[in-house]
Amino acid sequence: MNKDIYLTNNLSNKKEKFVPLDKEKVGMYVCGPTVYDNHHIGNARPLVIFDILYKVLKSKYGQGKINYVRNITDVDDKIIKSAKEKNILISDLTNNIINEFNDDCNYLSLDNPTDQPKATDHIDLMIKMIASLIKKSFAYEINNHVYFEVSKFADYGKLSNKKLEDLIAGSRVEISENKKKSEDFVLWKPSTDDEPFWNSPWGKGRPGWHLECSAMSKKYLGDVFDIHGGGIDLLFPHHENEIAQSRCANDTKVFANYWIHNAFITMSNEKMAKSTGNILKIKDFKDNVDGQVLKFALMSAHYKQPLDWNEKLLNDCQSTIEKWYDVYLEINDKIVLTEDILSPLYDDLNTPGYIAILHKLYDKALKGRDEDKSLFVLACNFIGILNKTKEEWLSLKKSKLSISEADILKKIKLRNKAREDKNYKEADTIRKVLLDKGVLIEDKDGKTIWKIK
Ligand SMILES: [Zn+2]
Repeated sequence: MNKDIYLTNNLSNKKEKFVPLDKEKVGMYVCGPTVYDNHHIGNARPLVIFDILYKVLKSKYGQGKINYVRNITDVDDKIIKSAKEKNILISDLTNNIINEFNDDCNYLSLDNPTDQPKATDHIDLMIKMIASLIKKSFAYEINNHVYFEVSKFADYGKLSNKKLEDLIAGSRVEISENKKKSEDFVLWKPSTDDEPFWNSPWGKGRPGWHLECSAMSKKYLGDVFDIHGGGIDLLFPHHENEIAQSRCANDTKVFANYWIHNAFITMSNEKMAKSTGNILKIKDFKDNVDGQVLKFALMSAHYKQPLDWNEKLLNDCQSTIEKWYDVYLEINDKIVLTEDILSPLYDDLNTPGYIAILHKLYDKALKGRDEDKSLFVLACNFIGILNKTKEEWLSLKKSKLSISEADILKKIKLRNKAREDKNYKEADTIRKVLLDKGVLIEDKDGKTIWKIK
């Protein structure tokens, strides 16, 4: 594809042309899940957004040219607390949640990242990075804790546009008697006997959360790479701290060149968060909603805008995909997506703009030409929609019906009998009973056919 990709870079807060360091090896790091509880749809939004960015990058630079790293945080205070509350081993909890998470990704039919490293497999690299930061006087040890000394890094706050004075004055910093200054953040802390620990030069302990992404991005993508992404809640302090650690440890002027953040999902215009209790877990949708419908809803707003979640949004997405399956046709290999079709996605991942193009392609496909149908399906497939065949879609819907096929046929027979007897009231009642169960019946050419609503 000759077209350029543009992305809003939070380092400059401007839309910039994306120019990779090496177009043969584009690097993207996205902060992944902390595996202490099932994930909610607020967590699913970055998964879907960065999956689309991954697809766009692949279309531009070629399959196999993108290194997409998404980490798994499997050591964290929230994990320790949750395992204690549930009275289970930490490893049992994290393994369960990792399996659930992988299942969520399959449900949303996301492309697998090239690497999905776990924090606990990289503690040695984190210890190495801390040692280097201490050696260069960017970090100090106090009482078996190691802290990063924020005032030593002149560019601290550049990503989030925060001034050090404001941070100190505000309540955004963790208070601890061990720190030299309140804005310093922890790189290593001691563990009690019932907490997970690793041996280090500073005693038995575990790393602070921010460090893992600096260590793992270095291993998989190098000291400087192209894109770093995540939800907007990670902008500060997590990403600010990652930049400080990495640039100081690696002696670089830059860590990632492009910082991309997606906005929140809200429910009735309030942030969806576990702490406030207004959350919808991904697993709660699995029984009733196909993954592509949920995914379609998650991309219905531009990634920089908050997405307000409600029942109507999901129903509208369900109806649209339902309607689109009417023109489904297996893809013809000769059909290719043009730059014009993909242009909204190349322009800062404008998913609503791309969906508008899909509606236009659908209108054209309705006229019946196989090429147009094929092009429409291919364009849907690009963002992982209509990725099931029509047969798979229909049989999935059938499996979710609360009435068996035999019972539907029985009811149709009874209705036809009632009609023969001119008992139209009874016939209409049967039709309504079926409709309530999601079955629509139509009389055509002397026959009665049924379909799923
Ligand atoms: Zn991170």
